[in-house]
Amino acid sequence: MDTDKKYAWSPLPTREDMLKSLETEHFDVLVIGGGATGTGVALDATSRALKTAMVEKYDFSCGTSSRSTKLIHGVVRYLQKAVFNLDLEQVYGSFWQHDDARMNIAIAISTARMGGSVANYMEVLELHKSKDENGKEVVSGARVKDRITDREFNIKAKCVINATGPYTDHIRLMGNKEDKKKLYLLPDYYR
Ligand SMILES: Cc1cc2nc3c(=O)[nH]c(=O)nc-3n(C[C@H](O)[C@H](O)[C@H](O)COP(=O)(O)OP(=O)(O)OC[C@H]3O[C@@H](n4cnc5c(N)ncnc54)[C@H](O)[C@@H]3O)c2cc1C
Repeated sequence: MDTDKKYAWSPLPTREDMLKSLETEHFDVLVIGGGATGTGVALDATSRALKTAMVEKYDFSCGTSSRSTKLIHGVVRYLQKAVFNLDLEQVYGSFWQHDDARMNIAIAISTARMGGSVANYMEVLELHKSKDENGKEVVSGARVKDRITDREFNIKAKCVINATGPYTDHIRLMGNKEDKKKLYLLPDYYR
């Protein structure tokens, strides 16, 4: 994308523009996952002038990021359970509520407005590796599928960030097939 277009505040690039950019450009950072973590990382990277791409398999914020209890400081809930016997009604009343999915989408749009290449309904199928300047094998991109058209292509990036929440292990194992599952989301008695 040219600089004029990059920082213009309207209109946003079309999905077609985004896909063309994802397929043809070489990115500094590719973020996998468009939840709270992925969109935050993508906006941060874009605002530091890193050439940034972000892909989300479904809708932005469709994962755990849209299922939270809408509290800005939800950790209180866990503290209450673990340590104190707090009156939750009182505690909740003193914290702000917010619409996390809406905030998530606003962050994704800000990333796009600042020149990031962002698309949802793009699923990462596999990670690509190549040798860096020291001969070390590093992840250097990913194969993605457009879930609307089923078209597949590769995205090239110097750095790939796995921000897929509960799917973190699935993506991690794409990069290291010999490794074992490490992330267990349920307590042992559920397994
Ligand atoms: C019931 C519940 C209540 C909670 N309450 C609170 C609270 O009150 N306050 C608080 O601060 N936190 C709360 N949390 C925690 C908070 O919601 C999560 O920590 C946060 O949303 C995690 O965001 P994330 O971006 O890491 O993961 P997610 O939001 O899960 O995002 C990961 C994304 O990766 C995408 N993805 C997966 N695989 C691929 C692939 N192959 N290609 C492309 N994309 C892929 C998924 O579709 C998903 O959108 C709560 C969580 C839950 C479940």
